Order: sequence, then structure tokens, then C-alpha cells
Amino acid sequence: MRTVLYPGSFDPVTNGHMDIIRRAAKAFDTVIVGILYNPSKPAGAFPVDVRISLLENALSGLDNVQVAAFGGLLIEAVQACGADAVIRGLRTTADVEIELQMARINHELGGVETLLMAAAPETVHISASMVREIARFGGDIAPYVPPSICKQVAALLKPL
Ligand code: ADP
Repeated sequence: MRTVLYPGSFDPVTNGHMDIIRRAAKAFDTVIVGILYNPSKPAGAFPVDVRISLLENALSGLDNVQVAAFGGLLIEAVQACGADAVIRGLRTTADVEIELQMARINHELGGVETLLMAAAPETVHISASMVREIARFGGDIAPYVPPSICKQVAALLKPL
């Protein structure tokens, strides 16, 4: 059984994340989508429990994918869920720099292997921060988030 952990903030989950999750689900027996948060910092745009429920909704039908939340170091999350490796998505050369640094540190600290998956051309431009920005100004986020959560995300971030 090969299990991979896909960590991130998923604040909220986007079609870019979904592409990585679907492709990872074909390559591994089990994918654990892990919301990593810092318990001593303020929550992101969405509380962790809301991010979990949005992910569960978006992932329904993907039988070998689970959702979990971890409030600590990535190497602790890997140990806690028994993952064999970590997977991350690469969009730009800026992502490469950050991801290589994190991959090296996580290998040094905990022997964790990180696999980097190239973003699909259709979703390479999508980020959760861009989705939040569009929604807060009342724009259409439908092209960027899974259809099953689009209305809820828009309603939670609607302009004042
Ligand atoms: P974001 O950068 O959208 O806020 P996260 O911090 O939750 O997302 O990132 C989790 C992982 O998902 C990271 O490896 C990030 O590079 C990857 N990722 C984010 N958006 C995309 C995308 N559009 N395509 C592929 N991978 C992505």
C-alpha cells in the first residue's frame, strides 16, 4: 500500500489542487489531503473545519482520497498518517525555488521524500489567493473552484 500526503492550506481548495489530487489518486493507493495550519496563528480566510468540509464535498467520489488536518511540522504529519512520501504541485519557477528548499529541509529533518508534480496547463494560473481576491470583489470564481463548492465559497467571501 503506497500512501502519499498532499499538504497545503487549501484556503479554499481550487481546480489546481483538484488536478494534482486526481492525478495522485491514479498513481498511489491512498492520497491524504492534509490541511497544515499553525495553531498559534490566526485562521486563514476559512476556518480549518470549513476547509475540511469544502474538501470533503469536492472530493466525493474519489474513493482513495481522505482529508485530515495537522497543526504542526510537515514531518510530524507524515509520521502521524503513515505516508510514504509527500506530493506538491509546481506552477512556476517561483514554486520550484520554494518547493526545493522545503523538500530538502523535510528530507534532512525527517527523511521525508517529496515528489513534485507539474501543474496542468489548464490550471497552472490558479491560486487560492486569487480565488479569494476575485470573490471578495464579487467576481465569478466558477472557472477556478470545483462546481460543488462554488456557491458556498462565493457566499462565504461575498463583498460587504
Ligand atoms: P495556494 O498556493 O493555491 O494557496 P496551497 O498553499 O494550499 O495553495 O498549496 C498546496 C500545494 O498545491 C502546493 O504544492 C502548491 O504549489 C500546489 N498548487 C496550488 N495551486 C496549484 C495549481 N493551480 N496547480 C498545481 N498545483 C497547485
